[in-house]
Amino acid sequence: MSTEIQAAPEPQVAAPAPSTGSRRPSRILLLLEQRQNRSLLEAELAGRHQVIAEADERALDGEFDLCIIDGTSLDRLRERVQGRKEQEKPTFLPVLLVTTRPGARMITRHLWRSVDELIIAPIERAELVARVEVLLRARALSLELRDKAAELEATALLLVERTAAAEEANRAKTQFLATMSHELRTPLNAIGGYVELLEMEVRGSITDLQRSDLARIRANQRHLLGLINEVLNYAKLGTGTVEFDVSDVPLGEALTAAEALVAPQAASKGLTLRVAGCPPEIAARADADKLRQILANLLSNAVKFTEAGGQVEITCALEKERVLVRVRDTGMGIPADKLDMIFDPFVQVHSDLTRTAEGTGLGLAISRDLALGMGGDLTAASMPGVGSVFTLALPLASA
Ligand code: ADP
Repeated sequence: MSTEIQAAPEPQVAAPAPSTGSRRPSRILLLLEQRQNRSLLEAELAGRHQVIAEADERALDGEFDLCIIDGTSLDRLRERVQGRKEQEKPTFLPVLLVTTRPGARMITRHLWRSVDELIIAPIERAELVARVEVLLRARALSLELRDKAAELEATALLLVERTAAAEEANRAKTQFLATMSHELRTPLNAIGGYVELLEMEVRGSITDLQRSDLARIRANQRHLLGLINEVLNYAKLGTGTVEFDVSDVPLGEALTAAEALVAPQAASKGLTLRVAGCPPEIAARADADKLRQILANLLSNAVKFTEAGGQVEITCALEKERVLVRVRDTGMGIPADKLDMIFDPFVQVHSDLTRTAEGTGLGLAISRDLALGMGGDLTAASMPGVGSVFTLALPLASA
């Protein structure tokens, strides 16, 4: 294939703006057999770009943004050009063929594998500049895309690493809680055992004053043990070692049993406590023990945070495939900005009260995890000074 460039008259068309957006001047590799053609193109392009003109074919392995090649060189180097384009993928490395052969017959599929654009000699300056700019812009865009993709990949990687680190830290914390709680329970049980021995006067008789002191030790030992058990429960939930024994649980029975648990405290505080609208035939898919634990927690909170003379009510409702159990109180309520936090572990909103009233701030965190573990959910709505509603949603038992 013989290729020749003839100088064309000065164009009448305004040249397009130089390529923008690239970080360095674009490098154009000229692989042209004829020295004269090379000088001509070099003179034309060198003002705007960095031109590698005296290049031999080894320059194909170097860095450039556009290769302008003639037919003779392409015949000789077709495979290397194709290989270089492949190697650059998915980034676009444009090749512009300058040829004297007019007509579409030569534009074979084969050719388009190594060439992206062609220009027929004699070359019009404006056409040359326009083609070069379009190809360089496509190249710049493709480089930008490559950089963005690399950035995205790096961000994704960072995210994965951070998530893994956070999960690991969480696992370690949960494991620590589980171990600590376990270790603390052993001496506490021993304290309880020895107090019992003393109370039974196995070590000798005790005075009434000593008996009342021992009762205090016992009460505090039980309280501490209760708290530790709660931490242990929460830690177990976090490690995914809690098993759910799910069956169809009739709600009427479960609610009456839970009501009975808190009835004495409600009565002693002068609260009205009632279960309403739970027909006995409604059943939920749940683990009966875990359901009892959630209800006991919601009800004891309702009683704890409601002033004398207030009301606590449990109601049931069906919603699509779910059953909703609501525990409503006319208590002090929870400020809107704290409502999301109450399900986080160790969060206590009414810290003045909870310092005197017992609690760890774990009850709701455990209850919600248990609800989620049974395919349900636990949510809260509240208005300070008016009261709160906690809604436990559970899957409805299959009919
Ligand atoms: P605890 O009751 O042991 O403090 P919980 O996780 O059960 O822990 O509750 C977290 C906090 O949410 C409580 O300390 C209290 O401030 C608030 N809370 C829970 N239930 C109610 C309620 N029915 N009314 C008002 N505040 C509540």
